[in-house]
Amino acid sequence: MITGKNYIGNQLIASGNKTYKTFNPESNQENKYLFTEAAQEEINKAVELASKAFKEYRTISGKRKSEFLNVVANEIVALGDELIQIYCSESGLPEGRAKGERGRTIFQLRSFADLVKEGSWVEATIDTAIPDREPNPKSDLRKMNIPLGPVVVFGASNFPLAYSTAGGDTAAALAAGCPVIVKSHPMHAGTGELIASAIIKAAEKTGMPNGIFSNLNSSGIEVGQQLVAHPKVKAVGFTGSIRGGRALLDLAAKREEPIPVFAEMGSINPVIMLPKALKNRAESLASTYAGSITLGTGQFCTNPGLILGLKGKNLTTFINSLAHKITEINPTCMLHPNIVGAYESSKTKALNQEGLTIAANYEGKIKPNYASQVVTTVEGKTFLDNPTLHQEIFGPYSMVVQCENEEQLEKIISSLEGQLTGTVISDANEVANYPAVIASLQNRVGRIIFNGVPTGVEVCPSMVHGGPYPASTDSRFTAVGINSIKRWIRPFSYQDWPNEILPKELKNENPLHILRSVNNILTKKGIV
Ligand code: NAP
Repeated sequence: MITGKNYIGNQLIASGNKTYKTFNPESNQENKYLFTEAAQEEINKAVELASKAFKEYRTISGKRKSEFLNVVANEIVALGDELIQIYCSESGLPEGRAKGERGRTIFQLRSFADLVKEGSWVEATIDTAIPDREPNPKSDLRKMNIPLGPVVVFGASNFPLAYSTAGGDTAAALAAGCPVIVKSHPMHAGTGELIASAIIKAAEKTGMPNGIFSNLNSSGIEVGQQLVAHPKVKAVGFTGSIRGGRALLDLAAKREEPIPVFAEMGSINPVIMLPKALKNRAESLASTYAGSITLGTGQFCTNPGLILGLKGKNLTTFINSLAHKITEINPTCMLHPNIVGAYESSKTKALNQEGLTIAANYEGKIKPNYASQVVTTVEGKTFLDNPTLHQEIFGPYSMVVQCENEEQLEKIISSLEGQLTGTVISDANEVANYPAVIASLQNRVGRIIFNGVPTGVEVCPSMVHGGPYPASTDSRFTAVGINSIKRWIRPFSYQDWPNEILPKELKNENPLHILRSVNNILTKKGIV
């Protein structure tokens, strides 16, 4: 049941006086529930509780954290159709997408549950003492990963489940041993509250300390700012706009104790169409890309917003075919009128730039909050000279850049801001003839795709969902997959610490049977 209140630990509270409703973009009307924004005292209480809970939660075994995360997943399943209905009514996204995203969220939770149950993620590293080393004896040093402390997670507008309340950031932080305070995204506050209720139920059922999770409502930037500035918050996870992510990064850097902000932000995901591939399959590539550009109404951080090719007949065939195919696709709903507004204004700004040609612009009648898809094209030089054309347009929009030659193509790639992905469309080994282009691309992106589309992010250990700024604020980490746990931990060393009081992970006997590095050898064996 949705109450509109904040979860401050396991208590539902709404003492503030600022209220708001969510909006159904498909029916173009407000939803019925009234949400109360978290008041200053509630924000402080949530952080204080998290800080207190951390003292116990950081010592809880991997087995118990695993049980907790699995019960969160079970409780989300138990929410049943109510969750799917509220998700659709607050996002305009179809039921199939809601169910798929719920499946991904559950998979993520269970993956982290498995990770912490197995235990080797702490990367235990042991260098035993050499008491008779000359000229000085060597100490015994033992290192493992430990949690940072309370983490604030900002829910993402475009992933109401998989990157919001119990999404990847929350699952990773809870797995690491960090309490989480979620700043719920105002566009899907009801979905957020239902998921929060599942987390709180699971925490109670598995005996977790009160305060390891709170869910705060807000309809403006103040709640998030207060959370990030709170001295007891130790790290931040964010998915959204460059403007929002950058503001939070700067705020965190200005604190007396600066803290890390792991923000996953904008990306235009360049796609390089090599000449032979275009010559042989321009039509089929156009179909594939019309689908990828419009998938989810273009509201994916991996949306292909930039397509690069060498000028000529084959690229022209591709552009014409893409224009034809994309206008045959029926427009779909965006997440919220504000997102439609942002799409329309950034699109208009781009269309007004000199030298830009509109290749396709869906001109049929569309319902309120729907987005019409657009494809534009420019010359390579025009793109290089105008940084406005490099900016993300969040929605079903893509631009094809017609490069003069390979040298210009490489120059364009080098001029791009950091990106989540780069894609190469190649005919068999054609790509091998473009080493400089590929090297430039690798320097700008977090993941490179061969003969595919950038949309669709697999959740697995080898996934990198991040990239040089502004794709993310720290390209050394991924936001997707079990390795995202590394954002919420720090390495910690014990020197000459007695075996009896070392954590289990580092004891001589290796009672948890985890994989450890002992004197530079990876082993599960104990130390005799
Ligand atoms: P957003 O504006 O970046 O907001 C995300 C969250 O951060 C919201 O909860 C927002 O709070 C908060 N926030 C924003 N600026 C803040 C600040 N200065 N201080 C503290 N908190 C701040 O993103 P959005 O609402 O999801 O969508 C807006 C635009 O972001 C989209 O049109 C799109 O361009 C971009 N976006 C990009 C991606 C991507 O993956 N590349 C994903 C989502 C959105 P309030 O909402 O309460 O103000």
